[in-house]
Amino acid sequence: MRATDCVFCRIVSGRSPCEEIRRDELTLAFMDIRPANDGHCLVIPKAHFATVLEMPPVLFGAVAAAAVAVARAVEEVLRPGGLSLLQANGALAGQTVPHVHLHVLPRRAGDNLLMNWDRERIAAATAEPARIAAIAARLRARLGG
Ligand code: AMP
Ligand code: ZN
Repeated sequence: MRATDCVFCRIVSGRSPCEEIRRDELTLAFMDIRPANDGHCLVIPKAHFATVLEMPPVLFGAVAAAAVAVARAVEEVLRPGGLSLLQANGALAGQTVPHVHLHVLPRRAGDNLLMNWDRERIAAATAEPARIAAIAARLRARLGG
């Protein structure tokens, strides 16, 4: 996708409106237009990257730092009780806007936001220590650890 076709790039360049709450040299934060609940906002890099797999890690660090500042404001202003940071990469992960964004989601009792897996229903095979160790070995080899 070209940046000119991207809804978040249009917001960054001022061609589309947003309810902006914070900006710095590298990032922009604004309210989600279809909030999952009160206070749901998004933090994005100003530069266009579809997913974190394409972007420089240090830039994701800037997005994360901005998200912490936003999260502190959400916590102090709205006092939700809890807060989730969520970031999807790819349609299979639920990504609908292909410009990296970090959701800042205030959490409240009974909000029923279904982003948690059932800790009581982990498949026995998936939790097999040998299986976990084998996957860890492959990842260590790739990461040089
Ligand atoms: P995701 O499904 O993780 O890709 O999240 C995309 C989010 O962007 C959704 O929560 C949408 O409501 C939100 N969104 C889409 N278009 C806009 C827009 N123009 N302004 C603000 N938020 C938007
Ligand atoms: Zn974009």
